[in-house]
Amino acid sequence: MYKIPYARVDCSGNEYKYVKEVLDSGWLTTASKTHKLEENFKKIVGAKHALAVNSCTSALHLALEAVGVQEGDKVLVPTWTFTASAEIIRYLGADPVFLDVDYETSSLTPEIVAESIERYPDAKVLIVVHFAGQAAPMGLEDTDEIMAICRKNGIIVVEDAAHAFPSRCGNQYVGNIGDVTCFSFYANKTMTTGEGGMLTTNKDDIAERVKLMRLHGIDRDVWDRFTSSKVSWEYDIRAPGYKYNMPDINAAVGLAQLEQVFDKRDKRQHCAEFYLDNLKDIEAVDLPKIRVPLSDHAWHIFAITLNNKAQVSRNDLIKLLAEDGIGTSVHYKPLHRMSYYKEKYALENAHYPNSEKLWKGCISLPIYSGLSDEELKYICDRVRVHLKL
Ligand SMILES: *Cc1c(COP(=O)(O)O)cnc(C)c1O
Repeated sequence: MYKIPYARVDCSGNEYKYVKEVLDSGWLTTASKTHKLEENFKKIVGAKHALAVNSCTSALHLALEAVGVQEGDKVLVPTWTFTASAEIIRYLGADPVFLDVDYETSSLTPEIVAESIERYPDAKVLIVVHFAGQAAPMGLEDTDEIMAICRKNGIIVVEDAAHAFPSRCGNQYVGNIGDVTCFSFYANKTMTTGEGGMLTTNKDDIAERVKLMRLHGIDRDVWDRFTSSKVSWEYDIRAPGYKYNMPDINAAVGLAQLEQVFDKRDKRQHCAEFYLDNLKDIEAVDLPKIRVPLSDHAWHIFAITLNNKAQVSRNDLIKLLAEDGIGTSVHYKPLHRMSYYKEKYALENAHYPNSEKLWKGCISLPIYSGLSDEELKYICDRVRVHLKL
């Protein structure tokens, strides 16, 4: 029998070599490896600034702080996401307004965004989640897509790109589209530093603020203090900042991961094509709608949805596949169903019909570079058997 976990970390590149260099250097916190990771990352996405931090959650928190979100502000966010996308709104005392998503793409659409801005004219910021690694329809400035709608209405766009590296939208990489973009290097993401994240922006004022706030509000970063010719002990505190910097041990892993990030993306695309091809005739399964070229998708998650023709429930299918040695996951139990948000904001399931439909049937299949065609075929065969076809 096969044993196929839901996710499998691959550190087969220069990870050990670069980590050893850090350990041998005697400097384990933020230093040259982190700077190099920022430089290399920036070159790929094409943004003016890339700032490494210790998680995507930290990046999102810093992003909202830097764009000026304050107590009592309203921030639009999809319900179809991980809690990190919304909890950071509460860190600042602001309030999330949860939006339903499109059933076919599990994403916000220009229509949903336009309608919610009309309904909540005092909303300041929109958080866009590029679900599964497919860029949401951000559009270029001259289209009627999400960016144009937000620009017209003075809404700041913060992107949760935890799934979306490397992803493209038109001729831009995600990370070079909205006002601020936040990436995750968590253990199971498309590239990892164990824990870590990256924030990109083209705006100098946002970058300045994030740099200050990611390390205690100190006006010079620690590395600069030790490499600059100025007296090294001298610094000022300009705000009560956070401790969100990325250590060099983690950055070393990230540098090695970055070297293989496109190769691994191509392999995940192969998995996705295998699934799309081998599951397409199963009536009980709705496949994700792919609206970008396959090569523009990061393919972090491959989520299928059981529709009302399915003879087994989602939870039963998860159990049956687990008995077959196949690990799966669920993305997501939507936030309007989570007790904290549900109770605090008196949310009702009926207001999120598409997310409810997705939640009832969604199941994420393994998708990573190390999956063989035999394993992919086995997964498809077992799904087919359990759906009685
Ligand atoms: C993983 C994830 C995050 C959080 O990333 P961390 O690096 O663990 O903080 C945020 N948003 C989404 C959509 C995620 O999947």
